[in-house]
Amino acid sequence: MKTLLIGCVLALAAAAQTAIPVLTPGSTQNLIADLVLANHILSNEGVLDAYGHVSVRSDRDPTHFFLARHMAAGLVNASDIVEYDLDSKPVSGDSSTGYTERFIHSEIYKARPDVMAVVHCHSPDLIPFGTTSVPLQPIFHMAAFLGEGVPVFEIRKAGGVTDMLIRNPELGHALAETLGDKPAALMRGHGAVVVAATLHAVVGRAYYMNMNAKLQEQAILLNGGKVTYLEGEEARKAAPQDGYERAWDFWKQKTK
Ligand code: MN
Repeated sequence: MKTLLIGCVLALAAAAQTAIPVLTPGSTQNLIADLVLANHILSNEGVLDAYGHVSVRSDRDPTHFFLARHMAAGLVNASDIVEYDLDSKPVSGDSSTGYTERFIHSEIYKARPDVMAVVHCHSPDLIPFGTTSVPLQPIFHMAAFLGEGVPVFEIRKAGGVTDMLIRNPELGHALAETLGDKPAALMRGHGAVVVAATLHAVVGRAYYMNMNAKLQEQAILLNGGKVTYLEGEEARKAAPQDGYERAWDFWKQKTK
């Protein structure tokens, strides 16, 4: 019995360990530089406009994350990046105004130890899929990760009639619950949230999720809703893209 119990504890510990990302201390400056770049890329490529944001979990402390202060992504510099704890409080006592919806990030990092980066966007192409009964589905291989399913967050179920914003930890928690173990969730009448195990991958996912929405709408308009999507097995086989590293290098070049 005792052996069984120890076995169970070890198995649980091993499972928990595999879920925790490997941290590389000493690379925080590079991480912040990459986060600035992620802001510029998402702005350049039309995923973020003056609103929306991208964050990355700290490489030194998994209970901290980095996010710009309240400003448009395209204008973010390294000095605008603030380190937050998982209550969305600035760690360094920074008094800059934070994004109202920073709780999206803190509550997802709390709920998902596997997530290292989060994007929240208001991309117009995604909005129709959060407001109709048409599910967002992978229409091409570059967005195969959508095959895992894209839940829709209904804020009324969590907070009644609101101003639609994730203004507190409770709403952030409800959003994280809707996201579950999926790579993305739509937010009805608002936008979407996308997560990944790296900053580069979350940028690629956000970009190709938007492109997928555009293509899916075009296909539905062309053929009255009779569209052939990637089937489950195809989506699973196509999903590991390479973390979109080639795209990252290309988009990086375009920010110069
Ligand atoms: Mn928003």
